[in-house]
Amino acid sequence: MTLTQPALTRPASVTDALLRQLVARVPGSTGATWTLTEVYTGDAVVGLPQSTPGDIEQAFATARAAQRKWAATPLKQRLAVFRRAHAIFVGNARTVADLIQVESGKNRRMAIEETCDPAMVMSHYLKRAAKLLASTTRGGPVPLLTTSTEIRQPKGVVGIIAPWNFPFATGISDAVPALVAGNAVVLKPDNKTALSPLYGVQLLEEAGLPEGLFQVVCGEGPDVGPTLIDHADYVMFTGSTATGKIIGERAGRNLIGCCLELGGKNPMIVLDDADLDAAVRGAVFGAFGNTGQICMHIERIYLPRSRYDSFKDAFVAKARALDVRASYDFGPDMGSLVSVDHMRRVQSHVDDAVAKGATVLCGGSPRPDLGPAFFEPTILEGVTKDMHCGVTETFGPVVALYKYGTVDEAVALANDTDYGLNASVWGGDVAAACGVASRIESGNLNINDILATAYASKGTPSGGLKSSGVGARHGDQGLLKYTDAKNMAVLKKQVMGPRAGQTYEKYVQGMLSGLKIMRRLRIR
Ligand code: NAD
Repeated sequence: MTLTQPALTRPASVTDALLRQLVARVPGSTGATWTLTEVYTGDAVVGLPQSTPGDIEQAFATARAAQRKWAATPLKQRLAVFRRAHAIFVGNARTVADLIQVESGKNRRMAIEETCDPAMVMSHYLKRAAKLLASTTRGGPVPLLTTSTEIRQPKGVVGIIAPWNFPFATGISDAVPALVAGNAVVLKPDNKTALSPLYGVQLLEEAGLPEGLFQVVCGEGPDVGPTLIDHADYVMFTGSTATGKIIGERAGRNLIGCCLELGGKNPMIVLDDADLDAAVRGAVFGAFGNTGQICMHIERIYLPRSRYDSFKDAFVAKARALDVRASYDFGPDMGSLVSVDHMRRVQSHVDDAVAKGATVLCGGSPRPDLGPAFFEPTILEGVTKDMHCGVTETFGPVVALYKYGTVDEAVALANDTDYGLNASVWGGDVAAACGVASRIESGNLNINDILATAYASKGTPSGGLKSSGVGARHGDQGLLKYTDAKNMAVLKKQVMGPRAGQTYEKYVQGMLSGLKIMRRLRIR
């Protein structure tokens, strides 16, 4: 691991003027601010206004007024905004990456990859939204004489609560289909990472999104959450399973829908016939990409006994060779954790595992010489379910290796968790690997990849099973969840009930025969 820490200069694009412009979007009537820091150094960057319940109510009122006009704007015009936004987002990717790096401490590669996500989501729904939002007329209960039309209308104002690990992607990408469908959005990003989503809103307005339609409120979750949920018509939440339960309960009490994208304890299974070099390279990204702070990243690796030692040796060697440090260029393989608090939590998981008998194969310690929240890439073996990191999500660069005897045993171990977000299976025979993956209780299954193939497939719904979530983003569901369906039924001629002079017995006979005929008819 590289031990040197070069002098760090904050990216030139992150000027004081830009920072002032961004935080000016956040309502904060009391003047209270939260100090947002540069993660690599711990230096203060800007005071982020903190929104009161009154500020949040006002944000909803403004959003609601703007939403009425937006919903009445023809879809073609709404989509034109996102066509322009796509180009603007791609054109400003480097500035977005600068902001993401400053506020999250992730390395440059992950920051740039994150900037691509909203553009990919826009691209997908630009092609798909017209079909999804068009009214669909079907035949009704009586062929030819009745029709039923499904009409999709926006929910109204969607509340989005986003985490810090992919602040731009979760803050903006989840808003795109909501806005396309004709909704307004009130977003609450994490205090630590509010800058990149605020910049995303600025870029959307540059593209022509009406002012007021996309509001951003800031504050600690328990302070902002209740008012936000109580005023929203739908809630899109991404974050931990513990918080997801709180959000889901409140949404349920308010009888509004919600989508909960939560945590994971994701397994990787290496099969006997896997390409070991490729699997080791995959594991390095799976365990240490984004400093282990990807919801779909890998915390458990299951290896056949015969390949355990060769995988372990190669994996440990690669982890030790990683370039870990603070830099705004593409040099480092891994950056910082998001905060000192989070670094302490990661450390507590490792300390707990070691105290209960786990072995540290590499890493295991903070790196204060690199920055306040750096932690080494860490590989453990001998992790058991009485250890925190044996059962709950660590969400850091910490991964455990396990041996398995049979594939059935590997599948059972992979499923031995409350979570079900992502799983990765590596094998030379792709059909066999798919067969193994299909037995894993997980919303995302990647064959010979860790997570990117599933997450970047924007046409397919992606969500968590078990304690990893409710609902999904992407795919048709990712847009339709932000709409209500109305069923407009038309009767061209009344034929229900006995005709004049017909007995009920005759009428019922005719109706029952009609049911048999209708089952055979192909009329929709
Ligand atoms: P968190 O649950 O602590 O916070 C997420 C967001 O919820 C933040 O904006 C926070 O301020 C807010 N919040 C906290 N308490 C709240 C409350 N009582 N009411 C309303 N809002 C509240 O999660 P985190 O630590 O910020 O993020 C990491 C977690 O997110 C990990 O568990 C990770 O797996 C998960 N995650 C999941 C996905 C996914 O798509 N499944 C994606 C990214 C992150």
